[in-house]
Amino acid sequence: MARIGIGSNAGDSHDAIERAWAALAALGTLRARSSLYRTKAWGVVDQPDFLNAAALLETPLAPRALLHALKAIEADLGRVPTFRWGPRAIDLDILAYDDARIDEPDLVVPHPRLFERAFALAPLREIDPAYEPAYEALPAAARAEVRRLDTKTSSCELDGDA
Ligand code: ADP
Ligand code: MG
Repeated sequence: MARIGIGSNAGDSHDAIERAWAALAALGTLRARSSLYRTKAWGVVDQPDFLNAAALLETPLAPRALLHALKAIEADLGRVPTFRWGPRAIDLDILAYDDARIDEPDLVVPHPRLFERAFALAPLREIDPAYEPAYEALPAAARAEVRRLDTKTSSCELDGDA
């Protein structure tokens, strides 16, 4: 079972993440998908908000094969034409893979920045309560920057980005 972090901050992020769910499902069985979370890009006026989510993916792929598959999905989604804001970004990370500990130049698992990133831990703890303590250990200010979107109103909330 892999924990996958999903992020996007360019173009139609909702659409990019929708496509990412479908692509991930093709790699195995999607056991859980989190709500969408929005991280305000405080202070930097011309930087779009980030949209984040997390998935529990049961997959026959070993960690390295999974990494390659995620990179292929990133490349694939990056090629989707956008309307006027240039290439949309999608970032797919292996946050964790069972209890594996991997420390290689191009693959570190658990993800080395997982425990300092509220935008990764907030969606992850929603689908895996084992990460609740790590989320609670973050500074309150960091947690406050990440807001869970009501899926029914999320597109309205993001109108300012489009
Ligand atoms: P970020 O750290 O913000 O996700 P990138 O997506 O640009 O930054 O990371 C690029 C590289 O990080 C990838 O080419 C990949 O080889 C490497 N990497 C190391 N560990 C991981 C992991 N657990 N999940 C995804 N990429 C990883
Ligand atoms: Mg990445």
